[in-house]
Amino acid sequence: MKTDVIALCKDLIAIPSINPMGRDDLDPTLTGEARVNDYIRHFVKAAGVDIVVQRTDVPGRENVGGMIVKGSRFPTLVLQCHTDTLGVGDHPSLLKPAVCKGRLYGRGATDDKGGLAAMLVALAEAALHPARVRNNVIVLGVSDEEYKGKGSLALVAQPPTKGADFGLVGEPTECRIVNGFKGVARWDLVTTGRSVHSSMPQKGVSAIYRMARLVSLIEDYQRELAKIEDPPLGCETISVGRIVGGTAVNVVPDSCTIEIDQRITRKTRAADAPKRLAAYLRKRGMRFPVIPSAMKDVEDAVLIAASHPGISLLGRMCLAQGLNPRPCQVAYGSDAFRMNRGGIPTVLWGPGSIKVAHSNDEYVEIRQLEQAVIFYLELMQTDLQKAGVRMKYSPGSKNWARSHTANGKSSIRRRQ
Ligand SMILES: [Zn+2]
Repeated sequence: MKTDVIALCKDLIAIPSINPMGRDDLDPTLTGEARVNDYIRHFVKAAGVDIVVQRTDVPGRENVGGMIVKGSRFPTLVLQCHTDTLGVGDHPSLLKPAVCKGRLYGRGATDDKGGLAAMLVALAEAALHPARVRNNVIVLGVSDEEYKGKGSLALVAQPPTKGADFGLVGEPTECRIVNGFKGVARWDLVTTGRSVHSSMPQKGVSAIYRMARLVSLIEDYQRELAKIEDPPLGCETISVGRIVGGTAVNVVPDSCTIEIDQRITRKTRAADAPKRLAAYLRKRGMRFPVIPSAMKDVEDAVLIAASHPGISLLGRMCLAQGLNPRPCQVAYGSDAFRMNRGGIPTVLWGPGSIKVAHSNDEYVEIRQLEQAVIFYLELMQTDLQKAGVRMKYSPGSKNWARSHTANGKSSIRRRQ
């Protein structure tokens, strides 16, 4: 069993676990989490801790990890990283880990195999001194984060992670505590028209011309959204990420589709985003029909109060280790959405930077990898009960994880 975090991270990078993202024409020797899961199984077995396997509804794409069991009197801590990665495109060398100038390069180095390596090494170290471990500790490799989050849906629904007292996701945060997440709403809009031969366009209706007007209005809408401020999460944003329309150069197009990505604050509900945009378009005098798709992604914003005992605890740990103790907030999505929604107060804290995730220049700072091992091990050995983290919440009681919405209701928990 390797307990050198660099060697372990190199092994994980060299094992391809590309998320197929719903495609079935990709090389099966590169896709899916099964090979990484086998590696984790062997590691956990060698470390002498219990193996955890959670089925998802995709065969062969389980969550796999290890657990140190202390008993039901103890709080349960879940540390998780996703095992799937983005593809490598025309850069197969991304699957060959390389160290250069204090950085470890390769696909998944920062997102999330660096964090996973650090968690596994910390788990193995913790298992050597079980008396020092103060919590039930689960380290879990979670599948399908990059696509549909099926792994984290299983995590919140199945033992031993269901109902855990505190969660930490090892997404790259450069060793900072992330306690707030903007929400997200994704959907398509379709404009329609009437097809005719392109030699007499005046007899038809171009769905692309309509879409051009629509897209221009959405660009204006960004200015409206910028007024929806929610410190410390920031303001709402909207982006048109893809456009598809027309069939041939000599046909006036009768259909055009765009894909929209809106980032949401706690002042609005993600599910209301299409309605709000439609109202704005009406106000701006748009007359032609626009057909929305069903929502493809919908998550409300979450902010765990800085006074949550888990956040205070991590802050103290950061301070003691010479790291920035102030929690920060992010606009990108992660499994923390589903874990918070599932009732597990969950933060992000991991080595590496999100700026190089998914890029062809993905790397993790080795210094941060080593820091992460120390941080995760200390968390496993800190008494969460004593720190006040173990709280069984119910609506109306003293709660910490908040997700405010426009109508004053909360999809997770309110603080007072
Ligand atoms: Zn990630």
